[in-house]
Amino acid sequence: MSSGGWCGRGDRPRVFVKCPPVICYDSPPAAKVSCIHYDDLRLKALMGKRIQELTVPKKSAATWEMKEGDLCRITVTEGSQVGDVNFWNLKNKQERFYSGKTRQLHATHLTVYDRLWSNLPYLRPMATIVADSLKNYGIDEDGASVHDVIGTRCDDYTYKLITGKERSGSCHTYLTEAVKKHGLTEQDVHDVWNIFMCTGFTKDTHQYFTKASPARKGDYIEFIADMDLLVAMSTCPQGKYLAMLVRKPKA
Ligand SMILES: [Zn+2]
Repeated sequence: MSSGGWCGRGDRPRVFVKCPPVICYDSPPAAKVSCIHYDDLRLKALMGKRIQELTVPKKSAATWEMKEGDLCRITVTEGSQVGDVNFWNLKNKQERFYSGKTRQLHATHLTVYDRLWSNLPYLRPMATIVADSLKNYGIDEDGASVHDVIGTRCDDYTYKLITGKERSGSCHTYLTEAVKKHGLTEQDVHDVWNIFMCTGFTKDTHQYFTKASPARKGDYIEFIADMDLLVAMSTCPQGKYLAMLVRKPKA
């Protein structure tokens, strides 16, 4: 009997049956919004009044509140910048953004009409993306795209784990600092929505990578709150500024 080239040491070579990929969550109805409805909500919001505007300088984070139906536009105001965003239900902060399930329901990178989902047992849409100036970037030749829900926020613990050096100052610490005034702690800061960040997985080893963001001054992303929200956003230390404005639908 042939040994199939196996010398008898280690595991016998095994041939795996090739199977086609099957999408696990193929556009569930709740994840598919009416584009016309959200376009309409967006236009109404943009015709409403500006209720808040703030700048988030690099190496800092800010928080703001949104009522259901409010629209938030986050704009790159200087250089090429990336931001890390967290969401909580304003009325029940146990309910917060669930990056992993959002990834499964939509994709690794989000764009217009994708939704941001909350944790279990709630699993509800917290916000819906209604505009994205980078939507035509698509998936590039390296498999990278923008606005991911695959990475986490940068943090000093992982920096020390990898380099052995102490560091103070990361999106995790800025977010932690910013949410304190809302009665939240470091343990409430969760995996983020990485806006404007360009990321992917290497084709050969499937390792997480980042590359220079295509975002330039004036690029923006907009979302509409599907529930009353507390939002926190940090501006990553590598870049410059992000600004945001919130507008409320016309009564
Ligand atoms: Zn960061």
